[in-house]
Amino acid sequence: MPAPLVTPQLTQQSPIKLHTMRSYYAPELRPLEFQYTKVAGTLVGEEFVLDRTGAGCHVVFDGMECPLRKLHFHAPGEHRIDGMVSELELHLVHEILEYPDAYPSAYLVVGVMLESKTDKTGQAQPLAPWLRGHFDARAVARGRRGDRQEYEVDPSVYLPEDRAYFRYEGSLTTGDTEEVVTWTVLRDFRTIEGPAPLQLDPRAAGWSSR
Ligand SMILES: [Zn+2]
Repeated sequence: MPAPLVTPQLTQQSPIKLHTMRSYYAPELRPLEFQYTKVAGTLVGEEFVLDRTGAGCHVVFDGMECPLRKLHFHAPGEHRIDGMVSELELHLVHEILEYPDAYPSAYLVVGVMLESKTDKTGQAQPLAPWLRGHFDARAVARGRRGDRQEYEVDPSVYLPEDRAYFRYEGSLTTGDTEEVVTWTVLRDFRTIEGPAPLQLDPRAAGWSSR
């Protein structure tokens, strides 16, 4: 007789719908301190992976310094905030180094909703051309040396002025969707101005022609 199989219930899958009115204020949660600077990294597939050698970007979360390891975008956005979906959602993936003793999650992922600037006629400027430009750069890189190309980027250009956030325990949203993420989704959308907010600059100091 075949043994019965029990599938463990996944209980904290992301993304979720976030609602201001259904959230509660938690005064014990301190503001997240973003200590971001321009850093070098490599585009690996659709992800920008920071070099581990140079001076890094990190956030201070509950007194812990969590280094930024990588960032990527989802189009359209994954989380909903008060029913709104953004054109793009940026995920800034930080490692929680004290894991697993001090904290149940392996990653602190900061989600930022990006929207395009509205011009004088009230028309939203589409983000798609900018995104396409980003991916074009990657395609060129793939032709030259595989799918890797090194850049410098200052992730603080993506942050809205007000860093109020929603906090919940969730999961990765791709791959095996492991439930190892402390999500911090910024409430305010970041309006993207100008043609190239990513500011990838292959001529910058961190450029390597390897
Ligand atoms: Zn993501």
